[in-house]
Amino acid sequence: MSQQTRLLQTDNASLHVAAALLQAGQLVAIPTETVYGLGADATSDQACAGIYTAKGRPSHNPLISHFPHATAALAEARDHFPLRRLAEQLARQFWPGPLTMVVPRHPQSNICQRASAGLPTIAVRVPAPPATRQLLALVGRPIAAPSANRSGRISPLCAQDVQAELQGRLAAIVDGGPAPVGVESTIIDLSGDHPLLLRPGFITPADLEEACATYGGLAHPAPAASASDKGTLTAPGQLTSHYAPTLPVVLGGQVNLQGTLEALLLFGPDEPDGLGVHAGLQGVDQQGRPWWNLSPKADRAQACSRLYAGLRWLDVEGRRLGCGLMRAPALNVLDPDKTGLGLVLADRLRRAAAPRGTTPTSR
Ligand code: AMP
Ligand code: MG
Repeated sequence: MSQQTRLLQTDNASLHVAAALLQAGQLVAIPTETVYGLGADATSDQACAGIYTAKGRPSHNPLISHFPHATAALAEARDHFPLRRLAEQLARQFWPGPLTMVVPRHPQSNICQRASAGLPTIAVRVPAPPATRQLLALVGRPIAAPSANRSGRISPLCAQDVQAELQGRLAAIVDGGPAPVGVESTIIDLSGDHPLLLRPGFITPADLEEACATYGGLAHPAPAASASDKGTLTAPGQLTSHYAPTLPVVLGGQVNLQGTLEALLLFGPDEPDGLGVHAGLQGVDQQGRPWWNLSPKADRAQACSRLYAGLRWLDVEGRRLGCGLMRAPALNVLDPDKTGLGLVLADRLRRAAAPRGTTPTSR
C-alpha cells in the first residue's frame, strides 16, 4: 500500500513532526553515522511489524533499538549479568557511536517481542548524530531501526538512497545529510560469559581488544569458507547474500579484456593489469568500463565511507553501459590483518558476492 512520504529536515519543528509520527506508530527513516535507519517505536509490536513489511524482512531477524543516551539503553538490560561491567565500559568508550551491544533483556524491558524476535536478549545502540539523539529524546521511547533498504539490498547513505528504496512505504524521511561512516554498526554479543563479535563494523576488533582482555578476549567466528578470494563466485549455499547490487559481483582475478564488459571496483593506487590509467575517484575508462576507486590512497576508513555509494553507482552505470558483472578487489587485498577496518570491507563484499537467492540473515 503506497503512502505519501514526507521529506523532513533536522530543525526543531521538523524533529517534532518526526517524533509525533513515530509516537503514532508510523515509520520514519532516520539518519545515523553508519547508514540511514528505518525507524519505528520499538515498544510497539504493530509499529515494528511495519518495518518487516516495508523491507520484506524475515520476521525471525531481530532489530536494533536506538536510544538518546547510554543510561536509557542499559536500563533495558538485566541489572546483573556476567558481562554487565564490560557493557558499561564499552558504552563509556564508544557511545554515542557505531557499536551495538546484545545484552540480556530486563524482565520489565519495554522493547516489544517483535523487535527482539522473541529472544531473551535485546540489541541496543546510541547513534552519534546530535539531531538523531534529539529526536530519540523527543520520542521518549526506544526506536527500532534496521537499515532503510529493501531486504538484501545495498544500505542507504543519504535521504535520496532511502527514497530510491522505500518511497511510498514510510511516512517520512529525516534528511541529516550523508552518513559519514558508511557501513553498519559493529555488533558485539555480551549476553554470554565471553564477548563475541557478531558483525564486523567500523569499531574494529583491535579497538575492542583492550576492554575485552579481562573477560577472556573477543571471540569472532571465522566467516564461511569461500572460493571468492581466488576470483570465482562462491559455491551456492555457502554464504548469505546481502548488500547485493543487481549485477553479479566477482572478487579478485584478472579483468576480462576481450569478452564481457566489467564494472570495476578498485582499491588503492595500483592499476589492474592491461588497463589504462584510472586517476581520481571514479569515471568511465576508454574501453567504456565504469570504475570507482574506494580509496586511491588505500585508506580503509575512506573505503568504508565510499563502499555502498560505489556499489550503487557501479550497478546503475554498469547496467547502462552494458556490463555483465562487477569485479571487486580480492578480500585479502582489503583485509590483510583480520583485526582492522579491512575486516568490515571484506565482510560486506563477501556478502555482496554471495550467491543470490540464499536466505539473508541480516539486512
Ligand atoms: P540491522 O539489520 O543492521 O538492524 O542489524 C540487525 C542485526 O542485529 C540482526 O540481523 C542480528 O544479527 C543482530 N541482532 C539484533 N538483535 C539481536 C539479538 N537479540 N541477538 C542477537 N543478534 C541480534
Ligand atoms: Mg541492513
